[in-house]
Amino acid sequence: MLPRSIQKFISAFAALPSIGPRQATRLAFYLVSLGSASIVDIADAARGLAALSTCPDCFFFSEGPVCPFCGNPARRKDVLAVVERPTDVIAIEATRKFNGVYLVLGELKKTGALQPEQKLKLERGKARGPFKEILLALDQTTYGDFNAQTITKELSGVTEKITRLGRGIPTGGEIEFADEDTLGSAIEKRS
Ligand SMILES: [Zn+2]
Repeated sequence: MLPRSIQKFISAFAALPSIGPRQATRLAFYLVSLGSASIVDIADAARGLAALSTCPDCFFFSEGPVCPFCGNPARRKDVLAVVERPTDVIAIEATRKFNGVYLVLGELKKTGALQPEQKLKLERGKARGPFKEILLALDQTTYGDFNAQTITKELSGVTEKITRLGRGIPTGGEIEFADEDTLGSAIEKRS
């Protein structure tokens, strides 16, 4: 029988994405082998995440009243990128090709219908306008196209233009997994 502390660790970690019980067990033994100081460091790093909140303007993560993008005076507030996931923001930032702010909507449904919470987020985004440009940085899938149409309807009237990512990201591709150069060029070639 495994010690209770290890059992508890395994059940917590096995529930995480892409970590099953075997992986969690290996991780537990690995951490024990690192020694208590390293374990405390890792636990502190995880505990720090509990202090994060959601930016009230763009719904990305924030440690203060707003996120680092909304709070940065050097970022253009009249250019907005609509994305699904916080990890999409990270992917776009890695390209260094975008200097506006974001609106993180949450995962879109394949039906092209928006969830009530997503409609509220879009309303919040609209209230920050008017915009020079709204970039719909959605996955390049068929349902991404449906969703783009729905979102375009919701946003009409608050922006001079609505753009989509340029071609280059493979069809069916999720922008979070596109390589930096490909995504960077899709941002540059947006239209
Ligand atoms: Zn923000």
